[in-house]
Amino acid sequence: MITVMKFGGTSVGSAEAIERVANIIINTKGDKVVVASAMSGITNFLVGIVDNPPSDMEAVVEQFANKHLMAAEQMFDEKTMAEFRKDFDERLKGFRKAILSDPSDAYYKDLVTSQGERFSTLMLSHYLRKLGQDSVALTAETAGIAAVGLPLSGSADLLETASGMTMKVRPLLSQGIVPVITGFYGIKDGSPLTFGRGGSDYSAAVVANALDADMLEIWTDVDGFMTSDPRIIKDAIKIDEMTFGEAAELAYFGAKVLHPRTIEPVRIKHIPLKVRNSFKPEEPGTLIHNLRKKGKGLLKSVATKNDLAIITVSSAEIAYRPELVASIIAKIAENNIIIYSISTSLSTIAMLISNSDVAPVIRKLNELSSGDIERIDVKNNVSLVCCVGDDLLSKCGVTGDIFTAVKEAGVNVEMISEGASEVSLNFVVPMGMVMDVVAILHSKYIGE
Ligand code: ASP
Ligand code: MG
Repeated sequence: MITVMKFGGTSVGSAEAIERVANIIINTKGDKVVVASAMSGITNFLVGIVDNPPSDMEAVVEQFANKHLMAAEQMFDEKTMAEFRKDFDERLKGFRKAILSDPSDAYYKDLVTSQGERFSTLMLSHYLRKLGQDSVALTAETAGIAAVGLPLSGSADLLETASGMTMKVRPLLSQGIVPVITGFYGIKDGSPLTFGRGGSDYSAAVVANALDADMLEIWTDVDGFMTSDPRIIKDAIKIDEMTFGEAAELAYFGAKVLHPRTIEPVRIKHIPLKVRNSFKPEEPGTLIHNLRKKGKGLLKSVATKNDLAIITVSSAEIAYRPELVASIIAKIAENNIIIYSISTSLSTIAMLISNSDVAPVIRKLNELSSGDIERIDVKNNVSLVCCVGDDLLSKCGVTGDIFTAVKEAGVNVEMISEGASEVSLNFVVPMGMVMDVVAILHSKYIGE
């Protein structure tokens, strides 16, 4: 039985956290493969170096090294520290070389921001060895994680990764060695390509896929998926079990429990996934798999995504001009901007995007011929409400029930998306009212 275990930034964020995680790993039965994020705060620090390059790069190297060495000194005795320092100094040379490389290279930011994972994994692996568990620290390079795609938004090449890992990682497992692998990036043409912020969850799913693992465990700092955001809804409770589809929709549209891209690599191989709390290892967390037993309530969970905007493009009879619709979307895609929802009518197309993407989207749309576009309207500061439940699409009256509740809360619905997914109904409301909507839906329709 192979379990891939992923630990996030807070789970490896201090000496105590790494010690706790190492014990969780040791207490897990069977073959284990670990994937870890950078220590919390490190990736932000690295992003800062790229966005506002400091004049004294040597001081940056020292600051970066100290952050890790301080934790290492708490964890290691003299002998382990000496062994650790050999690997650490080697990786630090790589770090110095990375930050001093050509900043105009398209992949420079990937190269720099992916450095943190190389150090957290090294600390965890050495600590496992200190506890008597044989372990090696692997990087995406040495483990064989292959990536494709554009800077800062790579995807794994699953086939290539599977053949790389079969050769480089599988043999370690039969020798009882626990590999600890860097999350967040893969290798494209010999250099790092990151999978987007928070991408270590996705890395772990890719590793599980590549090794045909029996289980993927995402260890984080919350109890699992919840019926709603516990900061908004006081009586929100943890969900024991969900399907891949439900978890994917919730993760994409608001719940910040795991990176939305984590689901696909395990879903296609039917590998169950558990979300667990590294601060409460005795808790079972949320299990995500192919099937689950039906719940009692109409809804399983309600999530929200804030700071969105609706951008509406008007053009006479746009519906009869599919090539114009295609070029509007293509223009937006040139900037890699995510469109969360689309709704069309005879002469308008409305798209839901992040507030922060409004200016670049308008710039891009202005590149289209002015004869094609009559008007662009923007409604800022809206929120998406994502309702997830059993077979929502095939049940009669669900929409009526949900919108009756929204009406009771006195809230106007600005845009609706239903029918695209079997398990979710999404709609947009003004951001200031979203809490009222979630509260009423949670109290009326959620039941275990
Ligand atoms: N360290 C990376 C980030 O902060 C990846 C991750 O944490 O998943 O975005
Ligand atoms: Mg993280």
